[in-house]
Amino acid sequence: MKGRSVGEQRYFQQGEIVGVLPAGALDRVLDYKAPEGGCRLGAFVEVPLGPRKIVGVVWKEGAGTWDPAKVRSIKRVLEATPMQPNMRSFLTRAAEYTLTPMSAMLRLATRAPGLGDTPAMRKIYRLGANVPDRLTPTRERVLQVLKDYPSLSFSLKEVADMAGVTPSVVKGLAKMGAVVEADAPRDTAYPKLDPSYAGKTLSPDQDAGARQLRSAVAAGRYGTTLLKGVTGSGKTEVYLEAVAECLAQGRQALVLLPEIALTSEFLTRVEARFGARPAEWHSGVTMAERRRAWKMVGEGGAQLVVGARSALFLPFQNLGLIVVDEEHDTSYKQEDGVLYNARDMAVLRASISAAHVVLATATPSLESWVNAEQGKYAKLELKSRFGPAVMPQMRAVDMRDQDLPSDRWISPALADAVRSRIEKSEQSLLFINRRGYAPITLCRACGHQIGCDDCDARMVEHRFLKRLVCHQCGETKPMPAVCPSCEAEDKLAPVGPGVERLTEEAEALFEGARVVTLSSDHFGSARAMKEQIESIAAGDADVIIGTQLVAKGHNFPKLTLVGVIDADLGLQGSDLRAAERTFQLMRQVAGRAGRAEVAGTALLQTYQPDHPVIRSILSGDEDGFWAAEAAEREAAGVPPYGRMAGIILSSENVQEIFDLGAAMARNDGPLRQVGATVYGPAPAPIARIRGRHRVRMLVKADKTAPLQAALSRWTAQFKIPNSVRLAIDIDPQSFF
Ligand SMILES: [Zn+2]
Ligand SMILES: [Zn+2]
Repeated sequence: MKGRSVGEQRYFQQGEIVGVLPAGALDRVLDYKAPEGGCRLGAFVEVPLGPRKIVGVVWKEGAGTWDPAKVRSIKRVLEATPMQPNMRSFLTRAAEYTLTPMSAMLRLATRAPGLGDTPAMRKIYRLGANVPDRLTPTRERVLQVLKDYPSLSFSLKEVADMAGVTPSVVKGLAKMGAVVEADAPRDTAYPKLDPSYAGKTLSPDQDAGARQLRSAVAAGRYGTTLLKGVTGSGKTEVYLEAVAECLAQGRQALVLLPEIALTSEFLTRVEARFGARPAEWHSGVTMAERRRAWKMVGEGGAQLVVGARSALFLPFQNLGLIVVDEEHDTSYKQEDGVLYNARDMAVLRASISAAHVVLATATPSLESWVNAEQGKYAKLELKSRFGPAVMPQMRAVDMRDQDLPSDRWISPALADAVRSRIEKSEQSLLFINRRGYAPITLCRACGHQIGCDDCDARMVEHRFLKRLVCHQCGETKPMPAVCPSCEAEDKLAPVGPGVERLTEEAEALFEGARVVTLSSDHFGSARAMKEQIESIAAGDADVIIGTQLVAKGHNFPKLTLVGVIDADLGLQGSDLRAAERTFQLMRQVAGRAGRAEVAGTALLQTYQPDHPVIRSILSGDEDGFWAAEAAEREAAGVPPYGRMAGIILSSENVQEIFDLGAAMARNDGPLRQVGATVYGPAPAPIARIRGRHRVRMLVKADKTAPLQAALSRWTAQFKIPNSVRLAIDIDPQSFF
């Protein structure tokens, strides 16, 4: 691999004072003595902290303010490549941007299972110098396998399997010295990816795009390209060419995907393109594989990583490219713990590592659209779908004209369209963005709605799970036999549709049709979900009832009709991004239709066919939509034209947080100094989660205002009691 070698980092002799940043503990760099054998700047180490032993990183020279006799010594240097200077500055700047304590930031970068363990070895078997005294056929086969692959190292089981013998034959040869048994590190490098393995034939449109990306990557400096292409235009093939260029340069590449369920399909495409599988990093991977991925990324033994947002914190040695696929996807925003947006952090990391970023999407986020319009990002657009497929026709079903009982949601117009597809053996998708059976359980005697005991939210009935579920905190309980309020029997009734109830309706409406549900609640594992998706793609379904899950890039070649049950659902929120979200989601869902030879149709059921968002979805006037939405945000001075931070105070004691919030709002000097304004405190839209009350404030400022520094000075004025949690969300994506 090219690039900076690790050895250039400063070396500290035994006993020298170094500053160690502990991960996830005290938010301070602490002085320690370099251990026996010394250590490098950036080394991962284990240090004593009080009675505990914790993992940290040698961050800088020691401050030397303590009596050296009292400074404790680093326990040991861990078996990992030292952290590079650019990683340290990435973490520092990410912490500054998100107002996260450094130690919490470092924790994201040390999430390697078994990082603190002593390195484990495994036994490998190679050809030895001795000749066995008696050469039986089984012995000969073992020796032949080892002769055939002189550069590979095999475990006992691998050699035995390949030779078709029992392990005892191999062991016997080892005793004679005809085979050598040796210790090798447990974690091994990933197989080499070959950038010139099997390039697919690209359309002229794709080929031009691939050239543009290749030359951007070859330039070897920071830049971002917004790769916009309609669903089915072959974005993946195009950005895989950027990956190929990056690998050819000897640098590492990272592809972020928004959904684990998409990974296996993607890995198959990588293998077809590069002849081997890359490293994987997400919650569905075993601990052993995660440990291997983390180590190999650090040692350069992994050229390409495919993963979830946390893969941004892997110890890449020479990162040349980050692809953020489906860059508009809300799952890139981490809403728990450290609040960060992986798309923004990808740009930050790349800018520090002289790497290129590709943001791929059919429907960009407004932020990325504006950045491209303003020339901060390069723009690349794939206009035509690959192959014969064309964009689906979009039409509204005006629900004011449809005759429908109050507990039915599939309009006669949509039902007719589905039936005609069933007759032609084509697939239909009915989309509803609501999990469970019904969003409300109402008592018909007293009007009581069943809510969560710990949250300010209704419980959602899930018949599949046979429980009521709180979508805020995850709490579940059985459906009560009587109304919890008036104790009337048999009066609890479901109100409104969820994906399960819609399935029931479709089964009754389309008798004999194969109706399947695609909702995350229905799968015990990523594998089960993958199997269901594959069977749908193979044609084993007539009607698919799906939630948001189906919007994320699966290929269903026989799908020619998409019916959106409630296109108005997203328009009701007071959320700044409601219009943008609805637009993106509807476009993505509609894009599922007509991907192979048959043209598709998308029907949007709406009570507001004249709403500007619905109209722009129907007309397909994307640029018109973005321009109008951008103008509205600019006039309001909100992101991406202004800056925002959400402040959430939470506590079991509601008075305590209102008092603190009011005091913070009164003492807003540091904010006013930079021209920022604080709004609130007000109860958060969900005023209680998991038994904790929540109060929120919103801080708005000009785009150029140094908001983070002002927020730090502002919050530092107050003593936050231990019973209160204060969370600061820079560029909030949602307002719950
Ligand atoms: Zn009741
Ligand atoms: Zn709850």
